[in-house]
Amino acid sequence: MIWKIKKELLEGVCELAKETYPNEFVSALRAKEGLIYELVLIPGTQSSDRSAVFRIGMLPPDREIVGTVHSHPLPDPRPSGEDFFLFEKYGGVHIIVAYPYDMGSWRSYDSAGEEVKLEVMD
Ligand SMILES: [Zn+2]
Repeated sequence: MIWKIKKELLEGVCELAKETYPNEFVSALRAKEGLIYELVLIPGTQSSDRSAVFRIGMLPPDREIVGTVHSHPLPDPRPSGEDFFLFEKYGGVHIIVAYPYDMGSWRSYDSAGEEVKLEVMD
């Protein structure tokens, strides 16, 4: 299965990551039929040093949540050890947007942390 994402949503993620820098931005992703169309922002969590895992764990159950997106304040989009834990636990597609948060600095992964293709739809 190849996941897809709306281009404007991905651009929005980059903007939010810039605003949150140097803290991590984290959100869940909502999709219908493989197309990621919306962020699910986590209530009551501004920029803080709490881990992404902890924050995503605060979300109510939602069948359309298919994965997560978070930012890295360094130009390295590779998942950390904690990220692998998050990926396994919450859904099937995960995006990491690394500094400087442009359309070339993100990667997508499956629940095992393997890089997967994510098609950007205009
Ligand atoms: Zn990470």
